[in-house]
Amino acid sequence: MSSERPRVLILGGGFAGVGAAKKLENADAEVVLVDRHDYHTFQPLLYQLATGLLETTAVGHSLRDLVERQENTSVHKGTVSAIDLDAREVQFEEIGPLTYDYLVLGLGAEVNFFGTEGAAEHAFPMYTLPNAVRLKDHLLERWEAAERDPSLVEDGALNVVIVGGGPTGVETAGAVVELYRADFAKDYPSLPQEEARVTLVEAGPELFSMFKPKIREYTAKALRDRTVEVQTGAMVASVSPNRVALKSGEELKAHTLVWGAGLQGNALVQSLGLELQRGNRIGVRPDLTVPEHPEVYALGDIAAIVDEKTKQVLPQLGSVALQSGEHAGEEIARRIAGKDIKPFKYKDKGTMAAIGRRAAVVQMLGGKTMTGTKAQLAWATVHLALLPTNEDRAHAVVDWAGAALTHQRTGRITVKTDDA
Ligand SMILES: Cc1cc2nc3c(=O)[nH]c(=O)nc-3n(C[C@H](O)[C@H](O)[C@H](O)COP(=O)(O)OP(=O)(O)OC[C@H]3O[C@@H](n4cnc5c(N)ncnc54)[C@H](O)[C@@H]3O)c2cc1C
Repeated sequence: MSSERPRVLILGGGFAGVGAAKKLENADAEVVLVDRHDYHTFQPLLYQLATGLLETTAVGHSLRDLVERQENTSVHKGTVSAIDLDAREVQFEEIGPLTYDYLVLGLGAEVNFFGTEGAAEHAFPMYTLPNAVRLKDHLLERWEAAERDPSLVEDGALNVVIVGGGPTGVETAGAVVELYRADFAKDYPSLPQEEARVTLVEAGPELFSMFKPKIREYTAKALRDRTVEVQTGAMVASVSPNRVALKSGEELKAHTLVWGAGLQGNALVQSLGLELQRGNRIGVRPDLTVPEHPEVYALGDIAAIVDEKTKQVLPQLGSVALQSGEHAGEEIARRIAGKDIKPFKYKDKGTMAAIGRRAAVVQMLGGKTMTGTKAQLAWATVHLALLPTNEDRAHAVVDWAGAALTHQRTGRITVKTDDA
């Protein structure tokens, strides 16, 4: 892999890494993109995969395919094991070390169980594609098991507790309850649907603390109308395979606990010798480079990027990751071409979440809000724009339209490689 051209090593093929790689297409550089997976994960739609609305290929896209037309770019599947910023070298578990002239850190965040007893062993996080497939398979397996042995219903086999009243928890709760009430009600007519409980647990006093009160009330009502039991001011103390204990002493019977309650920057950041900010995020300069390492960019969820307008740290969102990645790609290309560098400017696309059919919420930068069908259309538009290719957009539109017309979630099947 030797080259006369400067090497740009991009770690992580998420929104940030892919955004950077694409903007380097015409740069006079050797671009090397490495991810532990051979696919880009579209995290905002993981809950739709977990509830059978979308299939795996709508949420994971081949990284090689995304950059195949870029003559200067290669992709490797490898897990980063160590980064030496002084030596400008990265070690991987599966492939040899790589040196770099520019480094792009786009390794994202990982789940934070905040030390909750039993969570690491028994909870279902929603952060990766395997996480979503595992949750879907588990839900299907529990309904199949209850059909064979209805006494499991009383033990909570069909009950799901979702932790976290932010977008991940709310969207997952809305999707699980729709899967239950629209699809499983028909798939498993012998099982008592009314005894299959979906509970959303939030430690704070309200859901969606980042939204205006009007949106918080709309969300709680929309979920309750769909039979989600919302418990605010409740904290999970411990998790076992079939019980969730709350700090209040209450015990919920549930064979499934979905964790949507917290994130922290990728654990690798702790070994970099950099000063970290809240949530294990790397503080960056206005141009997104790391202090004392102008050749290193930290982007997306792994970085604490301060918005030049509001002076607040930007949230961990797909649009922040994509725009920061694109900015870094453009800047590296400009630097290689000997041009001036510019600070990063974030264009706010609003904060939004989908709760269910014809129920979504949007809050724009200026404070304007939208709910219902109008918000659902805005949500779909923004998320389609984030998808990496037109083919993925077409795929998602077909699946969403199909589900809207028929209420069918065609992905509700289990495929195991060790099955006959
Ligand atoms: C369930 C869920 C729902 C969300 N919904 C929304 C939403 O509706 N709207 C929105 O804007 N944002 C949403 N987000 C947030 C958004 O998805 C993230 O902000 C965004 O994915 C961050 O992009 P990134 O490139 O920084 O990191 P990631 O997308 O996490 O990419 C990091 C990449 O690094 C790779 N990687 C990690 N560790 C290693 C390693 N050691 N070696 C090699 N590769 C590694 C990973 O495989 C991954 O491909 C959601 C997130 C989640 C989890």
